[in-house]
Amino acid sequence: MSTAATGAGPQDAARAYVPAADSHAGRVILVTGASDGIGQALALALARQGATVALLGKQQRKLTRTYDRIVAAGGPQPALLPFNLETAAAPEYEALAQALEREFGRLDGLAHVAGILGDLSPVEQYDVPTWCKVLHVNLTAAFITTRTLLPLLRRSQDASIVFTSSTVGRTGRAYWGAYAVAKFGVEGLMQVLAHELSGTTRIRVNSVNPGPTRTAMRRQAYPAEDPATLPEPAAVLAPYLYLLGPASAGVNGLAVDCRPA
Ligand code: NAP
Repeated sequence: MSTAATGAGPQDAARAYVPAADSHAGRVILVTGASDGIGQALALALARQGATVALLGKQQRKLTRTYDRIVAAGGPQPALLPFNLETAAAPEYEALAQALEREFGRLDGLAHVAGILGDLSPVEQYDVPTWCKVLHVNLTAAFITTRTLLPLLRRSQDASIVFTSSTVGRTGRAYWGAYAVAKFGVEGLMQVLAHELSGTTRIRVNSVNPGPTRTAMRRQAYPAEDPATLPEPAAVLAPYLYLLGPASAGVNGLAVDCRPA
């Protein structure tokens, strides 16, 4: 792992990053959760910076809206990948890899942003099927997607994988149940993978905690909160853009917080 993993330098660089024009030009980047919230904002921003974005989300109708906005803004033509991370099995993952291979031949970035909240409930009462679903969508599906797409990432000269974490994935908090546990798992997966791939590949692996952000998921978790008090998704993207572009070359195993704790 790079020494950058423990230094304050890359944290600050990630938070303060302002991309130059065309900073991501020529890069092919898959964003999961590209149909809403932070993933949608990230897909739009990457396209604005010149990246070709592969848009993965559950609901095709919503995903198409992201696609249309990128095209209307004159961005590189994106790829549309309707995909259900809850139900997909091996053939669907294989088809996903084949479609990306046919279209692009490689991947320069993989941003895991899709996620679900599940229940906010004491562990003692936590609904078991919901627990399994949250662990699957938020952690296991990110593992399977990464495992499936590693051969395409290996073909890049400078590939970057970014996982999305959470404050409760770094310090446990009552009632956050499967969501918090899955995010702890995401951090573990990031660290294991960063260590495994360092030295022998050109792939770096890092995680981002966006912090409280004005999205549907946040509304579900805090229905009484005034959304106007929270930053919009577009305001939490600097670390994602930094880690998914050449500015962060050599940064590996870093867990970034969008805002200082
Ligand atoms: P959001 O607005 O609810 O968006 C969630 C995204 O995940 C949507 O694009 C959704 O697709 C996709 N998704 C959900 N289930 C899926 C499935 N089975 N298959 C494929 N895609 C699926 O959430 P958000 O707030 O932007 O959250 C994005 C990430 O940030 C999550 O990992 C979340 O844990 C993390 N996070 C958010 C906050 C916050 O305050 N918002 C704070 C910390 C961490 P569809 O729209 O097509 O259903």
